[in-house]
Amino acid sequence: MRYISTRGEAPPLDFVEVMLAGLARDGGLYVPETWPRLEPRTIAGFAGRPYAEVAADIIRPFLGTTIPDHDLARMAQEAYGGFRHPATVPLSQLGVSTFMLELFHGPTLAFKDLAMQLLARLMDHVLAQRGERATIVVATSGDTGGAAVEAFRGRAQVDLVVLYPTGRISDVQRRMMTTAPDDNVHALAIDGTFDDCQAIVKGMFNHHAFRDRVRLSGVNSINWARIVAQAVYYVTSAVALGAPHRKVAFTVPTGNFGDVYAGYVALRMGLPIDRLMIATNVNDILVRTLATGAYEVREVMPTTSPSMDIQVASNFERLLFEANGRDPRTVRSAMGSLAQSRRFALSARALAEIRTTFAADHADEEETAATIRTVLRETGRFVDPHTAVALAVTEKDVHDSSPPMIVLSTAHPAKFPDAVEAACGIRPPVPDWLADLGDRPERVTSLPADQIAVEKTILAASRAANVVVQKFSPLPAASP
Ligand SMILES: *Cc1c(COP(=O)(O)O)cnc(C)c1O
Repeated sequence: MRYISTRGEAPPLDFVEVMLAGLARDGGLYVPETWPRLEPRTIAGFAGRPYAEVAADIIRPFLGTTIPDHDLARMAQEAYGGFRHPATVPLSQLGVSTFMLELFHGPTLAFKDLAMQLLARLMDHVLAQRGERATIVVATSGDTGGAAVEAFRGRAQVDLVVLYPTGRISDVQRRMMTTAPDDNVHALAIDGTFDDCQAIVKGMFNHHAFRDRVRLSGVNSINWARIVAQAVYYVTSAVALGAPHRKVAFTVPTGNFGDVYAGYVALRMGLPIDRLMIATNVNDILVRTLATGAYEVREVMPTTSPSMDIQVASNFERLLFEANGRDPRTVRSAMGSLAQSRRFALSARALAEIRTTFAADHADEEETAATIRTVLRETGRFVDPHTAVALAVTEKDVHDSSPPMIVLSTAHPAKFPDAVEAACGIRPPVPDWLADLGDRPERVTSLPADQIAVEKTILAASRAANVVVQKFSPLPAASP
């Protein structure tokens, strides 16, 4: 299996190279040259099988020959064996034909665990095969950092550095990054905003001498390995409701377009999907794009669903490529226009093509809070604000009762306790196994929003840079 860039000016790569590279050299995103197909018979055969086994079967054709079958099967087993529910991603029924897919039973209570747990194992495996080390740097506004720490802690070939903006993430989110005892994990509290953190990471990737010295690599949501891992639960949940004999629809709380694009991957592989509903908060660039054909960047508004507070939905470039008949020139010109004037226009044909599969709507803060209240009253269940956005959109837009609608629940309510409590007056309970999170010692290095200072710290910590590893001295826990 070879992968090509959406901008057509980078060399085709194999799966392992794409996983390690992240972004293509021409600034584009890698997509498979052809879509592997799941025959209806194969899809039907997934019924009743363990999640990890199905995951390996779905991901295998994307890998080519670089990773042996039994290694992939073992890594999937390990990745999903740690989930706190025997079904890994249980499906619960909320209404006559509305279902909720619980993607939050992993170690950091957010759906990002599903991709990150596998990605970390794949990366460590191929680096070990090659006798190489890497330093992974992540800027995070919340969930990605914790998921990366849990996935990469203790891995032999990788050092992980997460940058988060001091004081701007929740207590639970911070502790998930700062309490891992492993030497290969380094949490950096940056005195600045998330945008500052992201600018520093970008700056380090553009600083080629540094980048090569520490073998810098990334695991953000454009990483292809994350996307394929996410395609799996679209298949398993559809199968649970009767696929391939019956079509299903999905509503997906969306930020960077990674998760909902994984649904599109499942569709292209042959899963019968009636519709993919994009649900956003008031940061609704994708809703406006589907309504008008103009992709137009505006200011980000902070909301109670922070993982969806984005300006640019990076993975949308992959859909743009498909909607334009895989013509890289159209993508290049759109992205050129985006860089220059913060907007581009879709052709009527591309827009019509996208609308055959996707629909979109947003929920504002009031609708989101009202949904948290209603769901608690009617079902006795807490839902997190990201899930509530998707449920609110489903409520507004889905009137017919067929086909069944699967709403993706992307975080556990206890991960966003303040927003849930503000909406319904009750604090959602923390799972027992996480109850001591608040007592674990924190280890964090505070730094100014300065690339040089961050690089110095990383050079000292990175085993790939061949310097003696220095221990960070623990700082007292930041007061909540
Ligand atoms: C990251 C995240 C999202 C958005 O996912 P994308 O792939 O960026 O669309 C939604 N909900 C939660 C809880 C998240 O952590």
